[in-house]
Amino acid sequence: NKITIAIDGFSSTGKSTVAKQLAKHLGYVYVDSGAMYRAVTFYAMQNGLINKDDFNVEGLIYQLPKINISFTFNESLGFAEVYLNGINIEKEIRKLEVSSFVSKVAAIPEVRQQQVKLQQKLGDSKGVVMDGRDIGTVVFPKAELKLFMTASAETRAQRRYDELIERGDDVTFKDVLKNVQERDYLDSNRKDSPLIKADDAIEIDNSNMSLEEQFNKILQLVTM
Ligand code: C5P
Repeated sequence: NKITIAIDGFSSTGKSTVAKQLAKHLGYVYVDSGAMYRAVTFYAMQNGLINKDDFNVEGLIYQLPKINISFTFNESLGFAEVYLNGINIEKEIRKLEVSSFVSKVAAIPEVRQQQVKLQQKLGDSKGVVMDGRDIGTVVFPKAELKLFMTASAETRAQRRYDELIERGDDVTFKDVLKNVQERDYLDSNRKDSPLIKADDAIEIDNSNMSLEEQFNKILQLVTM
């Protein structure tokens, strides 16, 4: 009896970490919807549509049909990596330059329409865990289990900072915190599909929870 699990919440709340664990444990497919908006942003950067603070929105909308995003499961990593027009861009899209622009790209209705359609296709068979900002409200409003993850901005920025440093990126905590707060603001205040908790979503504040505690709590909800 496989179900659809929607995990939404603010930036860097550990959604993808627990979603991956859960999918592996349940034998479900995991889809990282944020990676798709990051891939579109990366495309725009590579194709001269984003230069410093100059963003050619019309140009990006015009080129959307040229953007082909797909996922391929990586056995050794244990999750599916994101590909842009056939090229693995999993590492590139996690950089702070992409993070600092992605919320502006994700606010464009045409971008969302394209990505939501693809997300619905990727999750059309049951047995999927998808994380993002609007999965429980827009992409899968009928998902059997909806979670909404929160944690303090400082906790979240610290986690993201540790991750980026471990990967060898040259960032400061201040810049990471600023990015987390900016994205939360833009994601919560955009006109199209803003980040809000679905009425029937269960809120989990994981500021003081270990990964194992989160995993066990969610697993309990799945089997209820
Ligand atoms: O989850 P992640 O931090 O990788 O998402 C990057 C950005 O993509 C978010 O800050 C948000 O602007 C956008 N996003 C979205 N809707 C989703 C997933 C991500 O707007 N379902």
